[in-house]
Amino acid sequence: MENSKEMRTWLDDLGLDHPLVIAGPCSAETEEQVMKIAHELKDTDVNYFRAGIWKPRTRPGNFEGVGALGLKWLQRVKEETGLKTATEVANKAHVELALEHDIDLLWIGARSTVSPFIVQEIADALEGTDKIVLVKNPVNPDLSLWLGAVERLHSKNIKKLGVIHRGFSTYEKSKYRNIPEWQLAIELQTKFPDLPLINDPSHITGNRDMIFDVSQTALDLNFDGLIVETHFDPDNAWSDAAQQVTPKTLVQIMKDLRIRKETDEEAEFNSKLSNLRTQIDIIDNQLIDMLGKRMKISDGIGSLKKQKNVAILQSNRWNSILGSMILEGESKGLSEEFILRMFKAIHQESINHQEKIMQG
Ligand code: PEP
Ligand code: MN
Repeated sequence: MENSKEMRTWLDDLGLDHPLVIAGPCSAETEEQVMKIAHELKDTDVNYFRAGIWKPRTRPGNFEGVGALGLKWLQRVKEETGLKTATEVANKAHVELALEHDIDLLWIGARSTVSPFIVQEIADALEGTDKIVLVKNPVNPDLSLWLGAVERLHSKNIKKLGVIHRGFSTYEKSKYRNIPEWQLAIELQTKFPDLPLINDPSHITGNRDMIFDVSQTALDLNFDGLIVETHFDPDNAWSDAAQQVTPKTLVQIMKDLRIRKETDEEAEFNSKLSNLRTQIDIIDNQLIDMLGKRMKISDGIGSLKKQKNVAILQSNRWNSILGSMILEGESKGLSEEFILRMFKAIHQESINHQEKIMQG
């Protein structure tokens, strides 16, 4: 996929003076619910009204969406409020129905992006469409899988493309429902600066109290827009209740967010920022260099141990290194958790090096 400006034009053509906003309930539940939320979002910064019609739930037995019936409700939303409409498609039949009902924006969900089979099926069904198509990141932090999905669509002559960053699932519990791994989104943005990048704070946080902070981080990282789940009665939503906000809260969030615009001041800020980033890049390179040197020394120890037939792992030594590094880290403002994780990784690499030497 070449990085063509054409990908961006659909967003520029909207001529917005604020980030793109997609909002609406996780799921369309009833016609009344859909219409009530849509009317509350009318005359706000919201550009597209979202509602899930087919809900791919992780475990069966939960509410799985109202199906094609909901597409009629979305059509009514467009007629009555003027809001454009958006829904998730997960197979060929969904695409055909969504196109028949003139849905304006389609997105591919995280559980679909992981499957090249299903992405290809969707791309084939969408061939040549001028609808906007957004690809959510796959559930696992794999940039190639994400880009691969965009490429499948691009090669079917779908021009109005973009991506949604909704975070990644992990086995370990964290404060997020899906950890953001911002670095991955930044890498994508660096490689494809013209591919519109939308943040989904709802699915990243799983918690309405964190929506603002994650949205702000996204805007500070130059994301192009937000997709936020919105319901007039979030606690009683049929899906994703904990993460939905009311239309009123969304309006307040949009008001409070610092939205960056390019002014002279901005340009100056950007140049300062890029200067600092360059310094970081330099230090990162030094870190790699130092780690390389450390491993060379570790190789030397491996050779010695081999001669004397000494075990690789010597836990006394390891514990004393950790203890002093935790103290040292503390004096530099580094958390114990970080020091532990970093040294475990370094130590593991040393062991791998020594093992190679002992065996070779
Ligand atoms: C959704 O947007 O409602 C959804 C199901 O999201 P995801 O694919 O990110 O889980
Ligand atoms: Mn949801």
